[in-house]
Amino acid sequence: MTFMEKNIFAEIIAGKIPCDKVYETDTILAFYDINPKAKIHILIIPKKEYQTALEVNEENFAEFGELFLAAKNIAKKLGMTGYKLHMNVGEDGGQIVPHVHLHMLSPDYNAPL
Ligand code: 5GP
Repeated sequence: MTFMEKNIFAEIIAGKIPCDKVYETDTILAFYDINPKAKIHILIIPKKEYQTALEVNEENFAEFGELFLAAKNIAKKLGMTGYKLHMNVGEDGGQIVPHVHLHMLSPDYNAPL
């Protein structure tokens, strides 16, 4: 697996590419995955550009924590009582889009992404 050359999620944040938005705050955007691997498959991303979760550190960990808070708020909004979270970290971790994203999936998801 290799990183995409272009950060397509930056273009989505900038409104240059459309998305099916589920949730938005000043710092977070969430939208449906274009190629869903479960009945519900949402991508939760920070608006700030971090390529991978390898960039988390003592100063910015709250920004990464916001992804989990967003998942909880989205679940409430959609009436989901349980869900799965998955993150591919880095090219060697199977990540393709070079912008941090948390996959939020309904429990029928069982395959590796
Ligand atoms: P990764 O393998 O990087 O963890 O996952 C990237 C995810 O982004 C994949 O599940 C893929 O289907 C999704 N994706 C790629 N391009 C787009 C796009 O333009 N729009 C949306 N909504 N999802 C995308």
